[in-house]
Amino acid sequence: MAAVDYARLVDYHMHHERCGHAVAPMEAYVRAALRIGLGEMGFSDHLFQYWLPPDQRDPELGMREEELDAYVAEARALQRQYPQLRLRLALEVDYIPGREAELARILARYPWDYLLGSVHFLGNWGFDDARYLAEYARRDINAIYEEYYDLVGRAAETGLFDVMAHLDLPKKFGHRPTRDLSGIQRAVVRRLARAGVAVEVNTAGLRKPVGELYPALDLLTLCREAGVPATLSSDAHRPEEVGADFDRALEHLARAGYREYAAFTQRRLERRPLPLPTTM
Ligand SMILES: [Zn+2]
Ligand SMILES: [Zn+2]
Repeated sequence: MAAVDYARLVDYHMHHERCGHAVAPMEAYVRAALRIGLGEMGFSDHLFQYWLPPDQRDPELGMREEELDAYVAEARALQRQYPQLRLRLALEVDYIPGREAELARILARYPWDYLLGSVHFLGNWGFDDARYLAEYARRDINAIYEEYYDLVGRAAETGLFDVMAHLDLPKKFGHRPTRDLSGIQRAVVRRLARAGVAVEVNTAGLRKPVGELYPALDLLTLCREAGVPATLSSDAHRPEEVGADFDRALEHLARAGYREYAAFTQRRLERRPLPLPTTM
């Protein structure tokens, strides 16, 4: 078993009960982080439901618009209450093409430490939602990946996001491309590098049918070769998932050639040495 030096790490992606599909209040996640000795964590709830495509404004997919103020205020109160933990204020935000200016106005309301950019929708299809899996049978899987990576590239280029979340998300339920997409992966990684965004090693994929970290090692290695910084996340939806499988995440980063990870304060990136897991 590998011991993880959590004090020197961040967990930058987690949700709580306002999100509709996660459980427990914010403070329970703070307490879970303190229990494992985590040095820094960030709340990254989804931007409110209204942000989503019109027929996807689902109480299970995000808070109500009027809850955003309370979310920010509660994070601020927890920062004061738990000064021993560096608690970052963040959001996970869906990239919806054509609504960039509207999004910039919404995001400007608060001083975020970082913003996770996500693509969970191809048009109106929530492709990572278990309720809509039947759509995979109606589409060409390679075209799904192509459309997805193009949207990720476009999202990065908006400048609205600091970290692109779960970079190879269409694999979540085990749907794999049937042809070599390495050219498309190289292209998206070049776009991420040019845009100056980071990626995350997200351990939630280990808890999904695919049973893998996001992104896969080949894609993460392309990111490292292109100079794209990487950070760490559990994408916790319950407190006990905070910091989950970070031994695997650290090994994954090291195998991809990373020696540093990225942390953020008020949208400024800081590179920190990557503490490798030690064998107990
Ligand atoms: Zn997500
Ligand atoms: Zn998430």
